Amino acid sequence: MRKIVHYPHECLTIPTRPVTRLSKDVLSLLDEMLVIMESENGVGLAANQLGESIRMAVVKMDDETGLFEMLNPKIISKSKTTTLEVEGCLSFPGVYGTVERAAEVTVRYVDRDGYEIEVDVTDDLARIMQHEIDHLDGLIFTDKFIEQVSEEEFERLGEEE
Ligand SMILES: [Zn+2]
Repeated sequence: MRKIVHYPHECLTIPTRPVTRLSKDVLSLLDEMLVIMESENGVGLAANQLGESIRMAVVKMDDETGLFEMLNPKIISKSKTTTLEVEGCLSFPGVYGTVERAAEVTVRYVDRDGYEIEVDVTDDLARIMQHEIDHLDGLIFTDKFIEQVSEEEFERLGEEE
């Protein structure tokens, strides 16, 4: 089983390369990402957080919205409405801060069966997807901090991605 890499691992700051074929290796990495995200109680995980520079992320906010397994995800539109919330990141243990995000985004990706999917998501789910897609672009959330907050405040307000 792979391990979550922590900043400043170079994989976190280099844009990932696109998935070009649905190979057995790609799909087994996707399975492993889900297992690791759930074992860490995360709501999202990008492949480069496991040291694999490939454009894939998994997101599971709750049972109601379900699991998103996203290959080559891309934000194709975002609303101007923004929200400011506290975020944490599995690659930055103990680091929390407020980040401004679009409240509504449209994300296009390919699912594990090769189908192109487009979803309109809002609020927390939109936030998580923006955080993961930033990872895949080699961007880190601390660069977007409006304000760093304490662990206590995070436990009251945030989710780990
Ligand atoms: Zn993260």
